[in-house]
Amino acid sequence: MSAPTSHFDSLLNATREISTSVATQHAADVDAQARFPSETIAALRAAGVLAAPVPQRFGGAGCSMQQLALLCATLGQGCGSSGMVLAMHYNQVACLVRHGAEDTFFAQYLRDIVSHQILLASMTSEVGTFGDTRSSVCAVERQGERFVLNKDATTGSYCAHADAILVTCRRDADAASSDQVLVLVKREDATLTQTTTWDTLGMRGTCSPGFRLESSGPAEQIVPGTFADISAQTMVPYSHILWSALWWGIAADAVARAAAYVRGEARKKPGTVPPTATRLAEVLTQLQAMRSQWQSLAQAFDDIADHPEAEQELSGMAWALRLNNLKIACSDAAPQIVHRALQILGVLGYKNDSPFSLGRHYRDVLSASLMISNERIAAKSASMLLVHKDTLGI
Ligand SMILES: Cc1cc2nc3c(=O)[nH]c(=O)nc-3n(C[C@H](O)[C@H](O)[C@H](O)COP(=O)(O)OP(=O)(O)OC[C@H]3O[C@@H](n4cnc5c(N)ncnc54)[C@H](O)[C@@H]3O)c2cc1C
Repeated sequence: MSAPTSHFDSLLNATREISTSVATQHAADVDAQARFPSETIAALRAAGVLAAPVPQRFGGAGCSMQQLALLCATLGQGCGSSGMVLAMHYNQVACLVRHGAEDTFFAQYLRDIVSHQILLASMTSEVGTFGDTRSSVCAVERQGERFVLNKDATTGSYCAHADAILVTCRRDADAASSDQVLVLVKREDATLTQTTTWDTLGMRGTCSPGFRLESSGPAEQIVPGTFADISAQTMVPYSHILWSALWWGIAADAVARAAAYVRGEARKKPGTVPPTATRLAEVLTQLQAMRSQWQSLAQAFDDIADHPEAEQELSGMAWALRLNNLKIACSDAAPQIVHRALQILGVLGYKNDSPFSLGRHYRDVLSASLMISNERIAAKSASMLLVHKDTLGI
């Protein structure tokens, strides 16, 4: 699935324009106030960017993974928090597209995402599960045609600003912690009580405190299938690839600031190459390598996504390892790239009130290794490698 070039180009142009104008203009204030980037999300909504993953048969653009990744990378250059909100939203929409589109209720909901430019948030984290998305304490309770679902989430990005939240939980009160389903909870059917604060180093505009959720709704809002399949076949691929693209966008803007500085230095002494130009060339190598990593996996995903064997392949160890490697590699690379850009800029990059400031970029990318802890991901890879012998085929 991919959007026709003309449709995608118009979405990319709109996103580029929003990134360089609205997102850039408000990024410092969003960061300073730890407030939701409402101007940017409103502009994305008005330009129809929020429905980019919805297939054309439901009125959306039907963007591929490669196309969505480019949109996230583009927005991330203007404001890291806005880019992360877009990446998380796309991930949730993709879950409904890939696991709900054949269901009458969700087919209509996908049309609603297009017509109302609905913003979706995610609640996988929970008090008591220690960052393991594949385990839940809470359970959905079915009462006839309706469900009741209450959850104590440790971290819920922009939940207070979203139109609906996709919530993980156990299938029923007797189910094991890993026997999970995904439930669409509409904002009007939910009571959210904020339980913790979100005064963080970076990604401050994602507004991600803990929430106590109390909700109910029609049982048809339980996404068909198991969360085990949704996680392996959609949520993990989309999160790791789109997050990597967005972290690249933040790093790319840091390098762009360093490049502008180096060119300014060169103009001061025509005919000479400033020493910082060599460091710029070196950091560009790392930036390009990072881009190739997420682009190649996005392309590999698009190559198999619509094939009949995709479900089996994506649920296999080879894909899990490739995605784990991508997430760890890109979340390690982004802070290194920003750090190297800072060495080029020196104190101009260190100052908060300079046009070359990298404070926000640096703090934002530090979240990358924590957002699903790299240690946790590496531990899962380590146990897979004990049985997966084809390490060269990854
Ligand atoms: C910017 C941001 C936005 C987020 N948005 C959302 C959201 O919208 N919805 C949501 O549900 N969640 C969200 N999260 C939460 C996220 O998904 C994780 O649940 C959370 O980051 C994990 O928290 P933790 O580090 O306390 O937990 P853990 O993963 O338990 O890690 C705690 C510590 O244990 C270590 N550790 C864990 N496992 C191992 C292991 N196997 N071996 C060695 N050490 C290990 C880690 O390195 C870490 O030091 C967000 C997080 C961030 C940073």
